[in-house]
Amino acid sequence: MDIFPGRLYLRKEIEHIEGFNNIAAISNNKCFRCGNTAAHLFGRMSCVLCGREDCLYCRNCLVMGRVNSCQKLYYQKTTILQSEKKTLLEWGGVLSKGQKKASEAVVLSLKRNQDMLLWAVAGSGKTEMMFEGMDWALRQGFRICLASPRVDVCLELYPRLKEVFPSKNMVCLYGDSEDKYQGEQFVLATTHQLIRFYEAFEVIFIDEVDAFPYAKDPFLNYAVEKARKKEGTTIVITATPEQKWQEECTSGKRRFVKIPARYHRKKLPVPRTCWIGPWKKKLSRGQITHKLINWIKEKEAKDQPILIFFPEIEAMNQFSKALTNYNFPEPVTVHSADAARKEKVEWLREGKIKILLTTTILERGVTFTDVQVAVFGSEGSIFTEAALVQISGRAGRKFSHPTGDVCFFHYGATAEMKRAIKHIQKMNQLGVKEGMLDD
Ligand SMILES: [Zn+2]
Ligand SMILES: [Zn+2]
Repeated sequence: MDIFPGRLYLRKEIEHIEGFNNIAAISNNKCFRCGNTAAHLFGRMSCVLCGREDCLYCRNCLVMGRVNSCQKLYYQKTTILQSEKKTLLEWGGVLSKGQKKASEAVVLSLKRNQDMLLWAVAGSGKTEMMFEGMDWALRQGFRICLASPRVDVCLELYPRLKEVFPSKNMVCLYGDSEDKYQGEQFVLATTHQLIRFYEAFEVIFIDEVDAFPYAKDPFLNYAVEKARKKEGTTIVITATPEQKWQEECTSGKRRFVKIPARYHRKKLPVPRTCWIGPWKKKLSRGQITHKLINWIKEKEAKDQPILIFFPEIEAMNQFSKALTNYNFPEPVTVHSADAARKEKVEWLREGKIKILLTTTILERGVTFTDVQVAVFGSEGSIFTEAALVQISGRAGRKFSHPTGDVCFFHYGATAEMKRAIKHIQKMNQLGVKEGMLDD
């Protein structure tokens, strides 16, 4: 087995320990590899290595090979690679005003070695905002990583980045498949995969930082910090920073740049709201409010694709059946555990189907030309401000179709719904003020 600096190894994974640094796998009831400190996520076992009957091991990162408290983790330090003078980026595109502002801020942050939040609206073209900064970092000989909690994001960005940095070795790490890391200078990885790294990267970009499971999982935050060199820089990118981060931005505690405009210079669609009464009761009788039936017919008449979001799978399935009572064919549904998820998304994209019912799984990371968006039961607790802002961000993403209808169909407007609408309105105001939008 080949050994690469910046990776943590178990003793059994390496032939000898000469030239390796080591660190206790578990100390003070904390797993070094994954950061677990929760007592119930540790187990005890009789251990052949130390002979104890109650040797502690971590259950939280068991899938990556068991670590016991009597073991050490081994690693070699990474070094900065040869610097290069000439540009590595091969991209013929032009940045919009907003993208340029962001791009310059990213480069400056990296040069000054300061962490930064890039708060950029959905559809603003976030990937291109990172190009210049990545180019600069790679030219310094830095090892860089683009991490995302979402494997979809990694898989989508991998070919795009390979295309614009053709001269760089790149690898995409995801899933609990075998480790494919070969010491590449540029690593794309799910945040989960970073558990295996230690002080490996000078620069880490984190895309869609607030996306599940990163937002909910404290271990992943630990993994990202551990994978980065202590003196390195982290650039975090999202359209919807959590409340606490927003407050830190306002109070000056967090360095950030806000990009309120899409690359096509048109305003974000502001969601409308529509009260539909006790929809659960109606659904159980196979009924759907006429307000929504009419909404669907209206979009169908214009031959526009439709995405309808649901708070839960059960309601979605009931709705799907009920729709046939109104002379519609039974529509296609999709959720996170759906094996055919990718194909179904393609069907809507290619126009093979016109309506797709979905859970929040499609709240981000997908683009459909001219899509019209409805949120059914938008008062549901799963529809947070961030989720609703992301969902609304599905509409009007294309140059050819920069607007779209977004409607929250609800049985009692929530604070989250109001916050989401306000969030979008404020971004539009700021976009006009900063001259990034055609009014
Ligand atoms: Zn032991
Ligand atoms: Zn662990």
